[in-house]
Amino acid sequence: MFSKILIANRGEIACRVMQTARQLGVRTVAVYSDADATAKHVAMADEAVHIGPAPVAESYLKGDRIIAAALATGAQAIHPGYGFLSENPDFVGAVEAAGLTFIGPSARAIRAMGLKDAAKALMEEAGVPVVPGYHGAEQDPAFLAAEADKIGYPVLIKARAGGGGKGMRKVDDPAQFRAALEGAQREGQASFGDAAVLIEKWITTPRHIEIQVFGDGTNAIHLGERDCSLQRRHQKVIEEAPAPGMTSEMREVMGAAAVRAADAIGYSGAGTIEFIVDGSNGLDPEKFWFMEMNTRLQVEHPVTEAITGIDLVEWQLRVASGEPLPATQSEITLTGHAFEARLYAEDATKGFLPATGTLTALRFPNGTRADSGVRAGDAITPHYDPMIAKLIVHGASRDIALGQLRTALEDTIVAGSVTNLPFLVALTRHAGFAAGDMDTGLIERDQDELTRVGTPSIELQALAAVLALELLPSQPLQGFTLWTKLAQRVELDCGSIDVTVASPGCYECRTSDEQVVLKDVALEGCAVHVNGRRLLYAQSGPVVTLFEGAVGHVFERLDPLTAAVEATGGGDRLVAPMPGLVKLVNAQAGAHVTQGEALIVMEAMKMEHTLTAPRDGIVAELAVKQGQQVADGDVMLALEPLADA
Ligand code: ADP
Ligand code: ADP
Ligand code: MG
Repeated sequence: MFSKILIANRGEIACRVMQTARQLGVRTVAVYSDADATAKHVAMADEAVHIGPAPVAESYLKGDRIIAAALATGAQAIHPGYGFLSENPDFVGAVEAAGLTFIGPSARAIRAMGLKDAAKALMEEAGVPVVPGYHGAEQDPAFLAAEADKIGYPVLIKARAGGGGKGMRKVDDPAQFRAALEGAQREGQASFGDAAVLIEKWITTPRHIEIQVFGDGTNAIHLGERDCSLQRRHQKVIEEAPAPGMTSEMREVMGAAAVRAADAIGYSGAGTIEFIVDGSNGLDPEKFWFMEMNTRLQVEHPVTEAITGIDLVEWQLRVASGEPLPATQSEITLTGHAFEARLYAEDATKGFLPATGTLTALRFPNGTRADSGVRAGDAITPHYDPMIAKLIVHGASRDIALGQLRTALEDTIVAGSVTNLPFLVALTRHAGFAAGDMDTGLIERDQDELTRVGTPSIELQALAAVLALELLPSQPLQGFTLWTKLAQRVELDCGSIDVTVASPGCYECRTSDEQVVLKDVALEGCAVHVNGRRLLYAQSGPVVTLFEGAVGHVFERLDPLTAAVEATGGGDRLVAPMPGLVKLVNAQAGAHVTQGEALIVMEAMKMEHTLTAPRDGIVAELAVKQGQQVADGDVMLALEPLADA
């Protein structure tokens, strides 16, 4: 076993790897950017080396600096985590050339699976069923269109170098093929420096079922499957193991295909073979097809750990240090059912817009595995992806585990940033999901229902106003305020509220059309009592968050000036919702635009966001151009004011 390793990553996965390293008595070295100087992964490590400024291209993707840090600290091996340099064969080569061990597969294996087209060709040779389609070298648009006709619509165009759900376009109708092709090529070029595509048959009622494989370069085994069908825009949201409806026959056939795939490249370390499954009629051993292989530890690996009892990072370290596979296929047993939910700082009610913010409160329920790279007080910054944590539960049956997931999510507290918690809770209550009846389209079909938020009750609004006024805990009991019942006006983002102190702990609150009395209001740690209820709350400057279960209602006290500006500025402008890069401007000054038309595409936090015209109108001012960096709140485009009619 190694005595010291360097972890070339950040966030939850860096922390996850360090935890196992510590259990094995292996010292750890963290690397960090300017933005991460005080991050959790730095605090957890035995040593830490600064590798550059915040942008990933200048820090976490700087292989040479990372290797230099390993050499300088005497680390013998580098664990890449996922993302970043984990699937970069040149980095693996450089690590080995420096006399260090890469904790992962060989450069050759990564290269063989790096491009989806070549990987599919290789898998076909190895006798693994692949998704029908075209994955050759010819890229002429007319030729590709003819191939799409042959395959039969709908088809899926994929950038061959794609990942993270990027560079993909589903095409339902031949008339849309050319435009979709251009979109996929553009995204492939921009994100991966490679415009080449492959075309696949769109599998109906698609389920994403993947097999965890593990090899030591000589032998490979599989550790069962994960079902990752709950996706939004081709990105996983909740994963589970085993897959609902899986039979031992189907598992054996899929497992054997995955092991054939690993054997075909002499695989060493942890890897995942992703299959798409036609779920229209139950699971059928004739109806699964290879999509791609991820030659690294997967984000959702904990559900496999839960049902197998195996620590996959431990296996990675043992195999990389020269040990053979720690178990044989027949020694692998699956027990119970596990779920993982990905908790992100994002606003599901606003098209899943990623959010930033300092996490003023962060609490996970006792007894639940929560893999997180942040602590209370840490910030979600625009530089990296907005993951806060992964919650993992394990129960005797799927029903039990799903109940555990729901309560774990409900008992999780995050304040300081909007999160997808309410959306995740809504998913755990989805009848189809509960019945195991799901496909990759489930979220999109029911998105409205899953992201609907109840407007906070007048009681909650009033309580937020009282908290914002900071009348608690030292209530102003003395003096005439009490007797003259002087009302104080609070401008919250949900409206203005007049608060009158009626008696100690009792407030009369009034909006323009409703009123409510709050009785027995008192603070107790991070909870507030009101009218016999107890609610968790968090307060940071002008922002008050009140929790009803997992739903954190966020209220912001506006200063009267801002309130006035917001009221008039409303639907006339496109404002940058977060710091980011302007990727595309699809408008010009003087142009007539219609409501909903895509005008500006921004890239922030690894995602693209399309900003659309808030109403019909004429572009009066265009303040940004392609390639420009914008700050949160910058006005990017303004429409001509509406003529008074
Ligand atoms: P999966 O492993 O299930 O395929 P995803 O594809 O959703 O998971 O996410 C893996 C991706 O996460 C990586 O390919 C990368 O784009 C992104 N990523 C990279 N580094 C990090 C990190 N430190 N924290 C979170 N996500 C990261
Ligand atoms: P990435 O590298 O971005 O992860 P994948 O090839 O793994 O790309 O595809 C991502 C997701 O897109 C899959 O999990 C699945 O939901 C969907 N998908 C991919 N190929 C198909 C297909 N042929 N038919 C239907 N859905 C597909
Ligand atoms: Mg994939």
